[in-house]
Amino acid sequence: MAVRPVLLYPDPRLRLKAEEVTRFDAGLARLAEDMVETMYAHGGIGLAATQIGARERLLVLDVAEDRREPHVFINPVIVAREGHLTSEEGCLSIPDVRERVERAARVRVDARDLHGQPHTVEAEGLLAVCLQHEIDHLEGRLFLDRLSPPKRERLRRRYLAARRETERTAVRG
Ligand code: ZN
Repeated sequence: MAVRPVLLYPDPRLRLKAEEVTRFDAGLARLAEDMVETMYAHGGIGLAATQIGARERLLVLDVAEDRREPHVFINPVIVAREGHLTSEEGCLSIPDVRERVERAARVRVDARDLHGQPHTVEAEGLLAVCLQHEIDHLEGRLFLDRLSPPKRERLRRRYLAARRETERTAVRG
């Protein structure tokens, strides 16, 4: 297993749409293992393959309190959504930015496991939010895209300025 670097906004690869997985082989299992390790190493509760520059339609998440229940979703599709829920979100690809985002309160997701077996998950609360956030990544979408244009622009500018500052001091130090 290996921790992979996470792509940071505004890396254009974060805008690529993931491709349906058709081969459920050892390479896919290795990718999923790396993603779980990368998610834990960065303290995230979810990670989409897009965020490490992989094109597979695959996401991992773990919303359990003791962080010991990693779940792998391959080719996930939201087949039903219900209600509204607004909660604060952050993203490993947009460090230090947190904002309230409105999503569906409950979703039903069809996906495959590492062996290609189909399964369905009925999710609500944090799990539902996390699934929608990661499935957005697989579509090349970021949580910033779901904010009002003025709010998005304000956060984007502040984030880019902070990143420039980090890079400047990193070069010096
Ligand atoms: Zn994210």
